[in-house]
Amino acid sequence: MNVLLFGPPGSGKGTQAKDLAAALGIPHVATGDIFRRHLKEGTELGLRAKSFLHGGGLVPDSFTCEIVESRLLEPDTAGGALLDGFPRTAVQAEWLLDWLAARGKRVDAVINLVVPDQVIIDRVSGRRACPSCGATYHVSFAPAPGGVCSRCGAAVVQREDDKEFVVVRRLETYARETVPVLPVLRPRTKIHDIAGTGEVSEIRSRIFSALGLS
Ligand code: AMP
Repeated sequence: MNVLLFGPPGSGKGTQAKDLAAALGIPHVATGDIFRRHLKEGTELGLRAKSFLHGGGLVPDSFTCEIVESRLLEPDTAGGALLDGFPRTAVQAEWLLDWLAARGKRVDAVINLVVPDQVIIDRVSGRRACPSCGATYHVSFAPAPGGVCSRCGAAVVQREDDKEFVVVRRLETYARETVPVLPVLRPRTKIHDIAGTGEVSEIRSRIFSALGLS
């Protein structure tokens, strides 16, 4: 089964992905995580992606599709994947639909998380992350005591792409490049519009009930 988690940056896709992937029994594939891992490890791919990630823009389509293709050719995704952050352009959406169709597969469902821009700006620009173990915090909702990670003691930082001006630019990019993905997907799959505001557990229930999961 192939399911897409769709929505603006900061809409909570990553938060919902873990439980959802486990419930569906498919791996969670997040292109943003793949790019960040390469950046951290200093690979050639990471260097190619760096300026796009830090500027709030999109990595070029051909490069992104190449990365996704190699991930979808790994054995653990033979039964499908929960794609998070991909496709992000109409070109990527067409590519994915064709790539799956050529293998007798399809996008079975899309979860479209709907969240107002101002809620996203407050959520994302207040986010802090531990550079050592990856734990995440929020200055208002879940602060790191004394600015240090309560799991491993490292000083928490604001991710480069969580800075407010970058968030605003990412939302503009989303409206311009990513919203046009929906009309490409709509005739070929089922799109579930889910309100992405409220408690994490409420949003989880909405998603699960839309997909008929318990
Ligand atoms: P994310 O964690 O999904 O918000 O992604 C972080 C950054 O990675 C984005 O701002 C883009 O620069 C890049 N990125 C992630 N997924 C894609 C994609 N499907 N197409 C192009 N760029 C992407």
